[in-house]
Amino acid sequence: MIIAANLKTNLTRSATCKYIKELQICVQNSTQNVIVFPATSSLDSYESNVTIGAQNAYPVENGAFTGEIGLEHLKEFEIKTILIGHSERRHILGESQEFIAKKFHYFKEQGFQIIFCVGEPLEIREGSKEEMLTYIHKQFEGIDTTYENLIIAYEPVWAIGTGKVPTLEDIKEIHKELKKKSSAPLLYGGSVKVNNVKDILSVENVDGVLVGSAALYAEHFCTMIEYADELQQSRH
Ligand code: PEP
Repeated sequence: MIIAANLKTNLTRSATCKYIKELQICVQNSTQNVIVFPATSSLDSYESNVTIGAQNAYPVENGAFTGEIGLEHLKEFEIKTILIGHSERRHILGESQEFIAKKFHYFKEQGFQIIFCVGEPLEIREGSKEEMLTYIHKQFEGIDTTYENLIIAYEPVWAIGTGKVPTLEDIKEIHKELKKKSSAPLLYGGSVKVNNVKDILSVENVDGVLVGSAALYAEHFCTMIEYADELQQSRH
């Protein structure tokens, strides 16, 4: 399974270094594919079995894009994984679908593993199921859903950082629909915690989780990785 942590604008470089060291202890005994997305200024060449990914980068090698980092900054640390389309970048930073698709295309051309996020805001959720699916499908415009290095994360906007989680039945239903769109591994994200991760990982077509706030403590994130291992063992 894929167990990913989005650290957002948290953990300084030294805190991230400590965090990765703590994770290494549990990851070395795990069969899970663990990915961590540190804050940009905390990117580094960490010695670990954890895959380090970028939360964001501008789709250029380098250039005049104040405040952004480009491909060469990721190459410095051999980073080949990137998060694209996260709801905070769509809704807070105002990234358009057109720009997201451009970014996707650029990093696809570079062979990156892309975790591509989709998900509906509350007002869409409150409408019909058809409206919700139409909204989510639009988030795939310009995106190559057959890309071999693609991972999709379904993250309802209303569930991110709120403690609210869709029912397991709802997750099952939407994941079933999304699997029709792409055969890429499909993660669930949005208020995943130690106390609900096992249930969520047990849902059909959930290939892993993308965790924000609950992953900020290495101990909690390690427990989630251990639960994923237990679940996988129980299936064999
Ligand atoms: C996220 O930001 O990708 C996320 C899932 O956050 P949280 O777990 O805090 O809801």
